[in-house]
Amino acid sequence: MKNLQETKGSMGCLTPSATLAITAAAKALKAQGVDVCSMSAGEPDFDTPEVIKQAAIQALQEGKTGYTPASGIPELKKAIAEKFQKDNGIKTTPAQIIIAPGAKYSVFTAVAALCGPGDEVIIPAPFWLSYTEMVKAAGATPVIVQTTAENNYEILPEELEAAVNENTRLMILTTPSNPTGAVYRKATLEKIAEIAVKNNFMVLADEIYEKLVYDADKPHISIASLNDEINALTITVNGFSKAYAMTGWRLGYLSAPLWLAKKINAFQSHSTSNPTTFAQYGGLKALEAADEAVEEMRQAFSVRRDLIHGLINDIDGISCIRPQGAFYILCDISSFGLSAADFCKRLLEEKKVAAIPCEAFSAPGNIRLSYACSEANIREAINRIKDFCASL
Ligand code: PMP
Ligand code: GLU
Repeated sequence: MKNLQETKGSMGCLTPSATLAITAAAKALKAQGVDVCSMSAGEPDFDTPEVIKQAAIQALQEGKTGYTPASGIPELKKAIAEKFQKDNGIKTTPAQIIIAPGAKYSVFTAVAALCGPGDEVIIPAPFWLSYTEMVKAAGATPVIVQTTAENNYEILPEELEAAVNENTRLMILTTPSNPTGAVYRKATLEKIAEIAVKNNFMVLADEIYEKLVYDADKPHISIASLNDEINALTITVNGFSKAYAMTGWRLGYLSAPLWLAKKINAFQSHSTSNPTTFAQYGGLKALEAADEAVEEMRQAFSVRRDLIHGLINDIDGISCIRPQGAFYILCDISSFGLSAADFCKRLLEEKKVAAIPCEAFSAPGNIRLSYACSEANIREAINRIKDFCASL
């Protein structure tokens, strides 16, 4: 008899997302009244700015509750194309924009529409854990290139070049990075662009943390803005979750060369159809009228970045780089002789601090702390981590 539980395709054998699982577990413990300090969630602790909420409410009240084109409403596609041009210097058109239920799905559709069996996708590590699973879901092969803290976790051009072969179809580039908080330097981006153009592979630039950068000498730069040749090879992904505190709205987007945007649109039209209609009107308002709210949140994250970096530096046995963007700090805890998974398990059991073990980010010996939480929570969590480390 055939075994129905044995899956044959590439979609049914993925590892569940550890970030979502740990974040949900920490929220459940909190709901039970346990005094948990959660440093796991990759989501701002802020509420969505009021103007954005009102725009979605108004859309609902106006009856904007039907299907939209699979790739999103024309007004939002136009606003996103203008945003790419204005904020990022990326030449694009509304026809190249696909709006999706979350940037996670934008990455997925881009990978799925572009890659298949026999293709290799280069992913610099440490990386956001979903990339490898998405590449595997598409039947393609992830090729991991390790980076180091000494080089600000930026891929070395010569190591990128060494990983390229005729099967290389795509490289995934995340700046600012989850989980390292690194922001790529322009000189490195220029070299990556040169290698991509020379070897004819595409780049997926995940720029979801673009607005959350904290150092004047480390501005966010979009690789697609460097020149027309690399623009023709780049898919730029972005979304509303992080900068606008809209994680639950599920709204992300991408810009791709027209030939690929058409394939992505076809895939999306058969999988999710459009992202939620009234959420798109909220997104439109976010682009039109929420710059100030974003800047306020960025400033709060910037203060928290300095706070957490200073406090962690005071703990014997932990080392980390000073993050320049996003809201994560990657801590090397290998000196304690525990795996990251064991470290986080014991930290939660003994001190009620939720952190993400980074084995699935290809950073064994490291844990990720999110500082998208209050300063009081940061102080309390780091105190507990300090006590925990002293006890090891
Ligand atoms: N890219 C990166 C690097 C992320 O950390 C996240 C976080 N979820 C996403 C994409 C997806 O975000 P969302 O689906 O909420 O838009
Ligand atoms: N990206 C966030 C994180 O890394 C949210 C969870 C997820 O989608 O993985 O924590």
